[in-house]
Amino acid sequence: MFFASDNSGPVPPQVLAALTEANTGYAMGYGADAEMVEVTKRVREIFEAPEAAVHLVATGTAANVLALATLCQPFETIFCTPTAHIHEDECNAPEFYTGGAKLTLVPGLPGFDDKMTAANLRATIAKEETRGVHGPQRGPVSITQVTERGTIYSLAELQELTTVAKEFNLPVHMDGARFANALVALECSPAEMTWKSGIDALSFGGTKNGLMGVEAVIFFDPKKAWEFELRRKRGGHLFSKHRYLSAQMLAYLTDDLWRDNARKANENCAYLAEGLRRADAPFLHEPQANMIFAALPRATHQRLFEAGAAYHLWDGPLDGDPNEKIAARFVCDWAISRDQMDHFLALIA
Ligand SMILES: *Cc1c(COP(=O)(O)O)cnc(C)c1O
Repeated sequence: MFFASDNSGPVPPQVLAALTEANTGYAMGYGADAEMVEVTKRVREIFEAPEAAVHLVATGTAANVLALATLCQPFETIFCTPTAHIHEDECNAPEFYTGGAKLTLVPGLPGFDDKMTAANLRATIAKEETRGVHGPQRGPVSITQVTERGTIYSLAELQELTTVAKEFNLPVHMDGARFANALVALECSPAEMTWKSGIDALSFGGTKNGLMGVEAVIFFDPKKAWEFELRRKRGGHLFSKHRYLSAQMLAYLTDDLWRDNARKANENCAYLAEGLRRADAPFLHEPQANMIFAALPRATHQRLFEAGAAYHLWDGPLDGDPNEKIAARFVCDWAISRDQMDHFLALIA
């Protein structure tokens, strides 16, 4: 009953098989392996972007901050939401890797701080770069898809945001740690959710969707590729035995494993959400991908934790009035079984 995060589950057998297959003979290091040539080819096909530059790193934080550092000068500021992973969960790595650029927070709708609106983005950008040499200069906009609260920007919403960025001539980065979960939910093409909607650079997640530890950074305009490579090496994220990263990503992009895993995760989430709804658990908002924010009485949380369930409480400690409902986050991955979810729901009932 593991709903703590979608990095807790196992790796699909296809990925392990691909690693075993890659584990013969010798290959050039540092990304000069044959598998990486194939990864680049596949990514370009999947994204309908024949020129795209593709690089692999082992963590989502590295993907985000190296991509942003490449798009951002130290005296600029990055526009993101108050709940953005780059703001809340990367231990100031964006500031560190950009050499001191700052983050400027764009508020969302009340109660929905995970999604920026075009009007708020325009107003927030307009307020920066108004103090001449004394203030931060405007820098990239970073959008998270799926958001940190499990919601999804529609293509129209993405296009409105990137249109605002382009009005100010700013590049747009997408934190796609859960890119596949959003893509299958929107039923659109990878090109539509990225460069056709004005995205310049993408952190293309793999780890949360089944890989052992690989994310791709994709620049749709390859002009920045060399600078990215230099920053990745300087930042200590260029893998020496790189073929094992490539092999994982190649397996992910073979036979649609990446989309299948995401579909499974989203379906598992819908199943769990249905059960929680039957148990009258109030939702903070409608789940759209593979994450649920819902409240249960403290006594129920207590019972679930004692039975071995793993997930994070969202607002408030376990100690207190046992009947008071406390929100929690439940994340479903591709591998969680119906049996485990049924067991979990039976404990709630
Ligand atoms: C998990 C996650 C990342 C990547 O985190 P790492 O722990 O560095 O791999 C990035 N963005 C979002 C929105 C995430 O949920």
